[in-house]
Amino acid sequence: EKVKNGLSKTRKNISGKIDDVIRSHRKIDEELFDELEEILITADVGIVSTMKIIENLKEKAKDKNIADPYDIKALLKEEVKNIMLSSVDNNYIKLEPTPSLILVVGVNGVGKTTTIGKLAHNIKISGKSVLLAAGDTFRAAAIDQLMEWGNRANVEVVSHQEGSDPAAVIFDAIKKAKAKNIDVLICDTAGRLHNKSNLMNELNKIFRVVEKEYPEATKEILLVLDATTGQNAINQAKVFKEVSNITGVILTKLDGTAKGGIAIALQAELNLPIKLIGVGEGIEDLQPFDVDIFINSIFE
Ligand code: GDP
Repeated sequence: EKVKNGLSKTRKNISGKIDDVIRSHRKIDEELFDELEEILITADVGIVSTMKIIENLKEKAKDKNIADPYDIKALLKEEVKNIMLSSVDNNYIKLEPTPSLILVVGVNGVGKTTTIGKLAHNIKISGKSVLLAAGDTFRAAAIDQLMEWGNRANVEVVSHQEGSDPAAVIFDAIKKAKAKNIDVLICDTAGRLHNKSNLMNELNKIFRVVEKEYPEATKEILLVLDATTGQNAINQAKVFKEVSNITGVILTKLDGTAKGGIAIALQAELNLPIKLIGVGEGIEDLQPFDVDIFINSIFE
């Protein structure tokens, strides 16, 4: 329900427009497919995946001898689902076997800190012990905000002063996680994109610490992206993918955009599984991503 409500703008933009196009066509022709293609591209589905979807749709419509435009929508929905399912294995965050470590990367303003707070809270109430590492040491506000979330979720936060070495914070946090038998350590990091080789060096230093100090941990490297930023989010995904082994994406602010098709572009074109989505500012608005629920929400 949360997900469905959060995706209402995208639903209007995709499903609503598809209904209009279908209603205005008496037969299935090239123009109908062109208009459907336009709808997907406008919703940020991505050109490559849109082309694939429409191509497959045309083939299926022909194979199945579909003559009524009203039957096209269900077929299109099926093709969007296929392209999402064929690109990644699953959309779950892997926390087992414990101990596990989640590194959260992404640029400022995408919703990284609040997302980490919500995630810590959700994992904690699922019955696992959680520790937070304030690895975004470039912003005092990020450290403070994470401490606040720690208080709220009753989760301890390992932090150093502003400006200190992020890898050192994570080193300390791993030591503490081991000593206290923590199930899930969630690490914030700073992702400054203005210089790719800097970003790479900073992240690599953290990865080395994690590999050396916590080889036994189940690992996730999650990239937080803001769904309202369209092509910027795609570009960030490309850069982070180049410099690190991203295992999944947390797509925030889906409630604030009509262009939620970006989830399809990320998963189908960049092979990045969407693992969590943000559909509002509340704690309960950070939701696991499920392809079926997502597709149903935008096609209903
Ligand atoms: P950071 O700079 O990346 O750490 O960003 P913050 O965590 O400080 O978040 C920036 C703003 O985005 C805050 O006001 C959050 O409440 C808001 N935000 C985060 N996720 C969502 C979401 O899924 N939906 C909405 N509407 N707002 C969100």
